[in-house]
Amino acid sequence: MKKLRGRTWFVLLFILLLTAGMCILVGMYVVQGSDWASFSANSHLYTNGRIATGTITDRNGLLLFDGETGAYAEDAATREATLHAVGDDYGNIVSGAKVLFSPYMAAYNPITGVGSQGNRVTLTIDAGLNRTAYEALAGRRGTVAVYNYKTGEVLCMVSSPAFDPEDSAAVLEAVNQGDPRYDTVYLNRFLSSSFTPGSIFKIVTAAAAIDRLNALEDFSYSCSGALEVGGDTVTCPSAHGEQDLAQALANSCNGAFAQLAIQLGGEVLQQYTQAAGLLDPVEVNGLSSAKGSFTPTEDTAYLGWSGVGQYTNLVNPCSELVLMGCIAGEGEAKNPTLLKSVTSSLELPASFVSTSDASIGWSGETCRQLKALMRNNVISHYGQDQFGDLPVCAKSGTAEVGTDRPHAWFVGFVDDPDSPYAFVVLVENGGSGSQVAGSIAATVLNQLAGS
Ligand SMILES: [Zn+2]
Repeated sequence: MKKLRGRTWFVLLFILLLTAGMCILVGMYVVQGSDWASFSANSHLYTNGRIATGTITDRNGLLLFDGETGAYAEDAATREATLHAVGDDYGNIVSGAKVLFSPYMAAYNPITGVGSQGNRVTLTIDAGLNRTAYEALAGRRGTVAVYNYKTGEVLCMVSSPAFDPEDSAAVLEAVNQGDPRYDTVYLNRFLSSSFTPGSIFKIVTAAAAIDRLNALEDFSYSCSGALEVGGDTVTCPSAHGEQDLAQALANSCNGAFAQLAIQLGGEVLQQYTQAAGLLDPVEVNGLSSAKGSFTPTEDTAYLGWSGVGQYTNLVNPCSELVLMGCIAGEGEAKNPTLLKSVTSSLELPASFVSTSDASIGWSGETCRQLKALMRNNVISHYGQDQFGDLPVCAKSGTAEVGTDRPHAWFVGFVDDPDSPYAFVVLVENGGSGSQVAGSIAATVLNQLAGS
């Protein structure tokens, strides 16, 4: 009897272990099945490590990549301008659709496995807008991105330097030989890099100053062109004279913002940077963007410089774009997405495409006040003419980076429910933010408004 009971227990334990094992396997299959199926050694889907099924098009149906033939867009300028959105032959560009969306292209589903015919993956980007943005960068390093902050659709995403993906093999060889033209060419600067923000960071300092110092009413500063702080001097290009908060932001007065940062303190500034989402990665179609950084300090010189976006501050362009969307949306927006739809060979929807919400920890009222300040920047300083009828709210940045020319930034959004676009333009070592990056933003937004 004892023996029988022992055996029963043994059998029960065996069944239990078997069931647990099956559960783990099914769980892993559901979660990771698409990765297994689209693993690059799967010869049904890949030829020499290249996805060999399905197609990729832009939002207007323009073919950007055909898996069966391995061909990219017909036009060389389009191929180069969409490189970081589509990818290269070898999967070196991890932000490319060929890597991110290969399970969709392979028509994978957990019940039937991989489909006999590939799917069409339609991206949110407009290839024509990418071309315009890439041409406007004119060979300079940097990134341009525009997204719809109500839907999350990324309409434009370029990163420079780029190359024609048809030259993937030659470029790979040049990269391996250390050719400086292709230095960091595989990096998507929009998603995977962080840069010194310079004066675009004044939006964060302004948000904290509005809330904590009632700066819209109480702040005034007399700019002589130089402010002595903790044995250091924060300078402006010229003496701005008497400044309230709106004037200080429009003129990008370093002295005024260094003064505000010192009054706020390092910890408050860090809280507002964190609440702005600038220190955390943004998830875009499963890919995490680079993080930003902010070092809270009570050293007045460093604190002054950090309030004007220098010191150790770093910002990722994608996080900055989402912040712009959230200010436009008075605290809420969508996270960016590159995937518009997935369609089967029978022209049927082949996958559910979703977007995720984004939010910041600044109040709706603070966002509305910042919006008014950023609108004033355009009207009083950058010039509305260049943006036609678009009610653009913006901030420029000219970020000092050692002895090189400064980085040129221009960030903002269109405050119009019919044109809900946020944008970020960065030209590395480009010089003046409002002139260099601002004119690129204007070119791209005008094309978008006209399309
Ligand atoms: Zn000044």
